[in-house]
Amino acid sequence: MNIILLGPPGAGKGTQARFLVDERGMVQLSTGDMLREAKDSGTEMGKKVADVMARGELVTDEIVIGLIREKLEAGGGNGFIFDGFPRTLKQADALGDLLAEIGQKLDRVIELRVDDAALVARITARSTCGTCGEVYNDLTKPIPADGKCSNCGGTTFKRRADDNEESLKTRLLEYYKQTSPLVGYYYVKGVYGRVDGLGEMDAVKAEIADVLG
Ligand code: AMP
Repeated sequence: MNIILLGPPGAGKGTQARFLVDERGMVQLSTGDMLREAKDSGTEMGKKVADVMARGELVTDEIVIGLIREKLEAGGGNGFIFDGFPRTLKQADALGDLLAEIGQKLDRVIELRVDDAALVARITARSTCGTCGEVYNDLTKPIPADGKCSNCGGTTFKRRADDNEESLKTRLLEYYKQTSPLVGYYYVKGVYGRVDGLGEMDAVKAEIADVLG
């Protein structure tokens, strides 16, 4: 089964994708993670996208479609979870074509609905384990008191450079201008479903499980 988790920054896409990876053996394809990796390892492409990402704008369709193409060609377990991709109608069309090329299709698009005020609060409080990427939040899931990641025992934690109010405004605007039309696009294709992303992590997880069946 191939699914898209759709939602603005901070909606919980990454957290829910990790659950699906652990429980269903699916493969998470996060273009944000791929771009951050490219940036951290100093590749030419990474250098090119660094400023755009820091400002919260979208990198070009060609770059992200290329990244996804490579991953799809490499194949993946029990289906793909697209996290942070597609973000434009052009990317959505390209994803349909790429899946068709490998004899697959998109089964479900799940929108995580959250209100904007909650997003700002969530994002400015979030951090991740530097070793395994486990997501923490100062308000809802603080880093354990012993300073060790509950998933892997790692002791370094990082905050994203673009998790500040200034870039977040741009990221939200990009979402509403370029990504939200995908709701209608996938509704018409008959694959759209939505869940309330504001609840506790486990409640959101259960709602997603219901939609996926
Ligand atoms: P994310 O981790 O999904 O919030 O993405 C972080 C940043 O990477 C975004 O603000 C964009 O600059 C860039 N990015 C990630 N995915 C895409 C995409 N599908 N299209 C364009 N830019 C992207």
